[in-house]
Amino acid sequence: MKIVYADNNATTMVAPEVLEAMLPFLKDQYGNPSSMHTFGGRVGFAIKDARAKVADLIGASPEEIVFTGCGTESDNTAIWAALHAQPDKRHVVTTRVEHPAVKSLAESLAKKGYRITFVPVDGQGNLDLDHLYRHLSEDTAIVSIMWANNETGVLFPIDEIAQRVREHGIVFHTDAVQAVGKIPVDVRQSPVDMLSMSGHKIHAPKGVGVLYVRKGTRFTPHLIGGHQENGRRGGTENTASIVGFGKAAELAASQWLKDMDRVKRLRDRLENSLLERVPNAMINGNRDRRLPNTTSVAFEYVEGESILLMMDQYGICASSGSACTSGSLEPSHVLRAMGVPFTAAHGSIRFSLGTYNTDEDIDTIVEKLPPIIDRLRDMSPFWHEAKAKTAAG
Ligand code: PLP
Repeated sequence: MKIVYADNNATTMVAPEVLEAMLPFLKDQYGNPSSMHTFGGRVGFAIKDARAKVADLIGASPEEIVFTGCGTESDNTAIWAALHAQPDKRHVVTTRVEHPAVKSLAESLAKKGYRITFVPVDGQGNLDLDHLYRHLSEDTAIVSIMWANNETGVLFPIDEIAQRVREHGIVFHTDAVQAVGKIPVDVRQSPVDMLSMSGHKIHAPKGVGVLYVRKGTRFTPHLIGGHQENGRRGGTENTASIVGFGKAAELAASQWLKDMDRVKRLRDRLENSLLERVPNAMINGNRDRRLPNTTSVAFEYVEGESILLMMDQYGICASSGSACTSGSLEPSHVLRAMGVPFTAAHGSIRFSLGTYNTDEDIDTIVEKLPPIIDRLRDMSPFWHEAKAKTAAG
C-alpha cells in the first residue's frame, strides 16, 4: 500500500541527499572532531561547514549557532540560560499554545516558585498582544513565544513582539521549530535573542537541534561538560546528524522554501475540497496568517482518533487534535485555548504537507476521507441529535 504522508509537522522523511551526506560520518569518518590529529580534524571541518550552512539559512553568523540534541533541548536551554544568567529575575512570559517543550518547562518552573504569564489567544489562535505587553516587568527574565503553531500553523508576529520585548531590555526567545524551512526566517530582520530549530522537521534526522544565540546575549550553558560548541553545550558532537542538518539547511535555502508555493496550493486544494464535500467541517485558526503547509480541520460530532484509524487503513498519515498520546481523549491545549467547541475539537485532524507531497496524495485524501466521516457520523448519536435539532429549527 502506498503511504500518503501528511504528517510533516510530526516529523519528516530524511532527504536522500541528506542521508548521502551523512553516510561517511557513520562509516569511515569516525574521528572525534576535538582530536588533535588530522583524522579527527577532518570531522571538525565538516561540522564547521554544517554550522555555516545552518547560519546561512537564518541569516546568522556561524559563531551564533549551537548544535543541541533536539528542538526540546534548544527550548529548554534558551529558557534556563536566561534564568541562570539573571538569577534575581523570577518571571517568565510565554503563551497558552506553546509546544510541551516550552509549556511543560514553564509549568515545572511555576512549581519551583517562578511566576509565569501564559498569554491567551483568541478564537482564531491570534495572540493577545496587549496582554503580553502589559505583563512585561523589571522582574521578567525571558519572553518565549513560538513563531508558528505546530497544530494550527498560525503565525505570531515575531518581529514586532521581539522589538517590543527588546525595548524593555528583556531576553526574547522564539521556538521556530515549525517555522524554519517553511517560511523565510532571517535574524537580521527579526530582533530575536535566541531561536530554536529541530533537524527532523526539515528532512534531517531526529536527535539533532540548533539554538541560535545572538552575539552578546546573556547565556549560561544548560548542559555542562566539555568545551564543545564554544563552551555553550558540552558533549561530543552528533557528527553525522549535524552534517545532515547542514545539508538539509542548504537544500531548504536553495530549493524547499521556493517549493512552498506549490505546497500551499496543495494544502488549499485539500482544505477547500474537504470543506466542499463534508458538511459541518471548519478550519481551526487564522487562515490568513498560517504556515503554507498546515491545516487543522474540525469535523464536528466524530472522534479524531476514529478518523485516524480509518484513514490508516488507506495508508493516510495525519494527526488528531487531542492529547491521545497521554492516554486521554481531551482536546489539545491549543484548541482548548482557542475556545474551539468540544464537539469540533474532538474531531479535529491536522494535515501537514511537505515538499515530497503530490497532487495524487491530495486526490487520495479527498476521495477517501468524506465517506469515512459519513460512516462515523452515521454511528454517532451526537450527530443524529444535532441533525434532529437543526430539522426542528
Ligand atoms: N517545538 C515545536 C513547535 C514542535 O513542533 C516540536 C516538535 O514537534 C518541538 C518543539 C520539539 O522538537 P524535538 O522533537 O526535536 O524535540
